[in-house]
Amino acid sequence: MTFLDLGATYRELKDEIDAAVARALASGWYIGGEEVARFEAAWARYTGAAHCVGLGNGLDALILALRALDVGPGDEVVVPSNTYIATWLAVSAVGATPVPVEPDPATHNIDPARVEAALTPRTRVLLPVHLYGQPADLDPILALARARGLRVVEDAAQAHGARYRGRPVGAHGDVVCWSFYPGKNLGAFGDAGAVTTDDADLAARIRRLGNYGSERKYVNVERGANSRLDPIQAAILSVKLGHLDAWTDRRRAIAALYSEGLAETGLALPRVPDWAEPAWHLYVVATPERDALQARLAEAGVGTLIHYPIPPHMQQAYADAGIAPDDLPLARRLADEVLSLPIGPHLDPTDARRVVAAVQE
Ligand SMILES: *Cc1c(COP(=O)(O)O)cnc(C)c1O
Repeated sequence: MTFLDLGATYRELKDEIDAAVARALASGWYIGGEEVARFEAAWARYTGAAHCVGLGNGLDALILALRALDVGPGDEVVVPSNTYIATWLAVSAVGATPVPVEPDPATHNIDPARVEAALTPRTRVLLPVHLYGQPADLDPILALARARGLRVVEDAAQAHGARYRGRPVGAHGDVVCWSFYPGKNLGAFGDAGAVTTDDADLAARIRRLGNYGSERKYVNVERGANSRLDPIQAAILSVKLGHLDAWTDRRRAIAALYSEGLAETGLALPRVPDWAEPAWHLYVVATPERDALQARLAEAGVGTLIHYPIPPHMQQAYADAGIAPDDLPLARRLADEVLSLPIGPHLDPTDARRVVAAVQE
């Protein structure tokens, strides 16, 4: 069984998606327009945010959020040591310095208890990631930010449909950044991204920054980028959004099956705090015998992946950051021990039971 079958959602919704794409093509609007506005309104409503701005991709969402907060050279941004490298790259892209904080080993998410020690007079933003679709513990991070006059940007690229303390991820922090990369829980058929926020001024600034720094054609008030949500992708996302809750339910059922079936295997399983409702983007187990387990599962026909095999601080891209491999031992250890089991709307419970049986062997 494949780890992820990206074509499955298209086959499931072919008629609806074909009609939406045809509508977008026939509209004559190929940048901005109604399809984009419709999806932005729907995504704001879904996430409980006052505003949504569609953008080109998730990395741009992070970069433009930081730019809108005037983060730049000399500034520091607190990031998880254990994340997809995009979180760090966004900070570097605006000329600021990513300051990594180690995870809570139980949840793999940034450990709020360790954040305060990472603050310096240069810290401007705290940037938690809802890794694997598990919400990060936001309240202590928001409280610290309030006490220190910092802003909070959330990387929610893996967290579509996740809830923190009963409220959807989408407007707890100052700006929440989304990716609709095809493999995400709400995925376009190409690159796409967005931010959500309750702050009208920040939303307007991010929209302007993604449109050449311009609100009026040929009037450029700042040096912006070109990063806009494609209307064809927006039309596809609007269709898929109508199915997101059902897909999240399927993911939740698979996660429950794994958690029950694997309880006695000695693997470290995802731990879900009582305030968290994960979106189950990934179901990640951990074991020192990871490579052997992955090889055995491959023999049994079960595709798995590693998220992520090399932590950002050990990538060549950050070789000049002056962070030794063992400066962040938890991130380093997780990279050696984590394994993502197949999960997604394409998988039915029979498949999940086969995975459980294969692991139990
Ligand atoms: C996918 C992802 C991103 C980047 O999104 P793109 O749309 O691929 O640019 C950022 N952060 C995290 C945690 C991600 O998983």
